[in-house]
Amino acid sequence: MTPAPPDTSISTLGPCLIPSPVHRIGGVEAPFKEDAVDRILYHSHVLEDGRDSSTPSYEEAGPREKIYFDPPKTTVGIVTCGGLCPGLNDIIRGIVNRCHKQYGVARVYGFRYGYEGLVQRFGHTPLLLKPSSVEQAHHFGGTLLGSSRGKQDIGEMVDTLEDMKVDILFVIGGDGTLRGAAEIVKEIERRGLKKAVVGIPKTIDNDIRYLDKSFGFETAFDAAVQAVNCAYIEATGAVNGVGLVKLMGRDSGFIACYAALAGSNVDFVLVPEVPFELEGEGGLLEVLRQKLMKRGSAVIVVAEGAGQHLMQTGDDTDASGNKRYGDIGLFLKDRINAFFKQRKTEVNLKYIDPSYIVRSVPANAQDNVYCSRLAQNAVHAAMAGKTNMLVGRWHNSYIHLPLELVIHGRRKVDPTQELWHSVLECTGQPAVMK
Ligand code: ATP
Ligand code: MG
Repeated sequence: MTPAPPDTSISTLGPCLIPSPVHRIGGVEAPFKEDAVDRILYHSHVLEDGRDSSTPSYEEAGPREKIYFDPPKTTVGIVTCGGLCPGLNDIIRGIVNRCHKQYGVARVYGFRYGYEGLVQRFGHTPLLLKPSSVEQAHHFGGTLLGSSRGKQDIGEMVDTLEDMKVDILFVIGGDGTLRGAAEIVKEIERRGLKKAVVGIPKTIDNDIRYLDKSFGFETAFDAAVQAVNCAYIEATGAVNGVGLVKLMGRDSGFIACYAALAGSNVDFVLVPEVPFELEGEGGLLEVLRQKLMKRGSAVIVVAEGAGQHLMQTGDDTDASGNKRYGDIGLFLKDRINAFFKQRKTEVNLKYIDPSYIVRSVPANAQDNVYCSRLAQNAVHAAMAGKTNMLVGRWHNSYIHLPLELVIHGRRKVDPTQELWHSVLECTGQPAVMK
């Protein structure tokens, strides 16, 4: 471990006596730091001589000197579930390559179409995956195994693992998939089987708690930024032009926030964490009208889960039981057009919904590397007999995380913290639109 720098104190010209003008940003208290209190630890690893069980720490990922499974006798399965996300193929490829090239396992099966592939009556024959079958996989978006939603019988899935003598199951998916994986683990334990289940969490929204970032986020965010740039061009090329872009983010608005920060040409960011109203003097419509009068154009980025309380949404759910959200993009488009029509004001609104394009692009180089390292560490963990866990990254180190920790709750944009403050600073939007 690199020794800590001997002195990290920062020189200062003298006492600070002048109140900062950054006191409030858009009406919200600025997240001021105190030199002596707000400090970042240098070492992200627990020091050997100062090992202290009261300091929370993660088990570090990586190869173990002794492993649990005997590679030539080991059968591996991989399954991908839920919506598409850049990097799925990279993870599959990484697992297949590590299993065969580094460990020399007997076989790797790819289960088709999510958890359906583990239920024999669907008749989806598993693929036998070799390094040659995944050589080009990372050049393509999506998942070469296919995916699905919809509840499957846990007992039937574990029957398949038993019938096919699968020792290790790698599960790649979102919160639903990981809840499913936790159920599979319980059933495996109930039957007294020795099978490892290791997850690689997938969320394009980057909303997993206790982890730095999720794979595919950077690629998705790159694609989202391109859509926002197009909206800006459209908006500035017309009289009272409004570019409206809907981005992913059912419960957390990270992509919307970062996409706005990347180009700085966004006037409004609407995220699920910060409620807003349309009507009234401080509502979005009136604030937008004033912006158009002043600037002649405006760009709005809305996360798909924002403003749900404004729409009449029923109790409709998808096949997996997730609540179906109202389309806030189309809703805003209609309401903005109607608002200006009523005032006999010309407005040229261009609505861009790039969601499916953003989801299905191949991973960028950064995510190629990230996915391959996650896959590599997932294989090391599983071969060492670790189960009921996920691999992830924390403070730039790869770590093991109990499955249980991430299936209850998500990370959210905190309206009192730096990220949202940067968004307010950069857009100039009011902190409260009511
Ligand atoms: P996304 O982020 O794209 O929504 P997800 O993994 O959350 O990904 P879901 O469709 O919600 O996607 O779930 C994927 C699979 O996990 C589905 O087959 C679903 O039935 C299953 N699943 C979800 N929750 C559970 C649960 N509590 N027990 C067992 N299986 C579950
Ligand atoms: Mg989900």
